[in-house]
Amino acid sequence: MQALANAGITDISGLLNYLPRKYINTLSPLPISQVKPGETCLEGHLLATPTLQYYGGRSMVRAKITDSSGVMPVIWFNQPWMAKNLKKDQKVLLYGAAKRFKNGLILQNPKVLHDKGVIPQYKPLPGLPSKVFSNLIDQVISSLDKIQDPLPEALLQEYHLCGLHEAMLYAHRPKNMDQVQIAERRLAFENLLFFQLAVSSQQADNAAGPDMRKAGFKSDDFWEMIPFKPTGAQRETLRVIYEDMKNPVPMRRLVQGDVGSGKTAVAFGAAVLAIKAGYQCALMAPTELLARQHHNNALKLLAPFNVSCGLLLGGMKAQERRETLEQIADGTCQLIIGTHAVISKSVNYQNLGLAITDEQHRFGVRQRQSLAERADEIIPHILALSATPIPRSLALVLYGDLKISVMDELPPGRTPVKTRIVPESKRRDLYQYIRDKALSGEQSYLVCPLVTDSEDADSEKKSAVSLFNSLMASSLKEVGLALTYGSQKEEEKNRAMEEFYTGKASVLISTTVIEVGVDVPNATTMVIEDAENFGLSQLHQLRGRVGRGDKESWCFLLGEENERLRTLTGTNDGFEIAKKDLEQRGPGELLGTRQHGRMLNVYGINDIRLVDETSSCLEQIKNDPKKKEIYEDLKKTALERFEKAIRITGLQ
Ligand code: ADP
Ligand code: MG
Repeated sequence: MQALANAGITDISGLLNYLPRKYINTLSPLPISQVKPGETCLEGHLLATPTLQYYGGRSMVRAKITDSSGVMPVIWFNQPWMAKNLKKDQKVLLYGAAKRFKNGLILQNPKVLHDKGVIPQYKPLPGLPSKVFSNLIDQVISSLDKIQDPLPEALLQEYHLCGLHEAMLYAHRPKNMDQVQIAERRLAFENLLFFQLAVSSQQADNAAGPDMRKAGFKSDDFWEMIPFKPTGAQRETLRVIYEDMKNPVPMRRLVQGDVGSGKTAVAFGAAVLAIKAGYQCALMAPTELLARQHHNNALKLLAPFNVSCGLLLGGMKAQERRETLEQIADGTCQLIIGTHAVISKSVNYQNLGLAITDEQHRFGVRQRQSLAERADEIIPHILALSATPIPRSLALVLYGDLKISVMDELPPGRTPVKTRIVPESKRRDLYQYIRDKALSGEQSYLVCPLVTDSEDADSEKKSAVSLFNSLMASSLKEVGLALTYGSQKEEEKNRAMEEFYTGKASVLISTTVIEVGVDVPNATTMVIEDAENFGLSQLHQLRGRVGRGDKESWCFLLGEENERLRTLTGTNDGFEIAKKDLEQRGPGELLGTRQHGRMLNVYGINDIRLVDETSSCLEQIKNDPKKKEIYEDLKKTALERFEKAIRITGLQ
């Protein structure tokens, strides 16, 4: 079936692994008096037959239900048949979202259910009615005994896990929420175990790496030829990186440093050593915007080193691309900067010695790894840069064994960004502020959220575009407005950024494409629309786009004041913020489980305790000679699974 194939579901196991994204539990409806805002299940009688009204073409059915504890108003929009189907005194079981209004809570657009139970909710597959999908699952579940359990019985017992058969039954057709939990634990355990196994077994033991001693170049030699004095953290980090790279074992190092801590200069420093030692260096950035910016910076900063730099992007002209590819193949091009185009199969490096990924958490595992697998004989050194700090145990799961350097120091002369939460009612004042700033020569960003849970991939574009259009009709137009978003045409994107870089446009309206890396010191105001839609770390990253010069900078978060957003007004410390984010939303969110931007999506990763449990389980199997056979079996499955998981989640 095409709809299934489109979602990467090509066999029974694929179908079974298409797990519900949540469950509706109607086993124990809540007394009306205890309902709070949010999703809820209620059971009661209708006080009267529902009424149907029309407002400007929209229908509205109103009803009230009552139980022994209270009365709850109910509204259905655009479901006129509800008025016909429901009668006074009828007993109903409802599931929906209670929302707070002036006069109290109202249950909006609830589903009317027939039986109590636990109902799995799947992410809809475009082109496949949920009924059809549900029937398919039923069919598959009834023939489930054909599926083999990849985990050995002994392991299941030791870690109190249910078998795969049970897990699938419980996940897709649970009788209660306990079963859901049992299934989730088992499936997440399995997934985390295989994921780690796959990641770790792709790391070659004792492999030879490029030896860069012969360059006879020290990290302090690099800093001497750079126009600024390094921070202590930059100096120390680069020193350690040079030590690693002068060792003929492939380096695997992650540099974690807050926004603006100067990771790029450190990366360039590493690149120079590789190039001095006669190797090529590839630098992969998550967006074209950032790749271009790195390329410009490299041309400036690395001029004294006579490095030849190439830029490789997805949407390049064929002729240009061919020339660059030739120069990469014959070694003329020493530093290759680009998006994931730098790891595409058509790129043949003459001798890649160092692979750098910037903002590495934005890439899929597969991409990071294939950069390492590019080299034929020697494995290049790997350097990853990230502004998002993650716990060590998680880093181990995601990247296998790597060393971490923390850069906890900002270059001097930064003015900390001040942050304020701004209610919608102050929007006009905000625009006035932006206008005043523009007239005095300072620039602003206006960022719109991505609506990631929407089926409509273009909703991202719409929100930025519609804001842009409405501002073009306002007096802000005079100060120069530019618009950019991910799916924009290449030339338009370039033009917008050019206008903002050169100051022709004072205001840049965009989506989160500017989240990472963009560096325009003259920009002093960051406005984030619907701030509540973003993760804290993401907001912090966005805020890091301003405060890059010596002028006072502000970040305005549009939205309702709440505790989460107040974290940002209280601190500018990215590590502190990441910790809060981790507590509140789990690491999956922190790293971005969104499909957008090729991020990671590892089932179970939000459960830090399970991450720890599975990683020690793996260690144990690995180190026990009696379990060698089990280990080899699991490893085989892990590698098969890993490839497939990558296909399904679209990491490639
Ligand atoms: P990030 O760590 O967020 O990637 P960047 O590498 O983009 O930060 O650096 C932010 C800005 O700070 C850049 O304009 C860079 O040139 C500048 N910078 C980096 N290191 C120093 C330093 N030691 N002194 C002064 N400016 C620096
Ligand atoms: Mg950066």
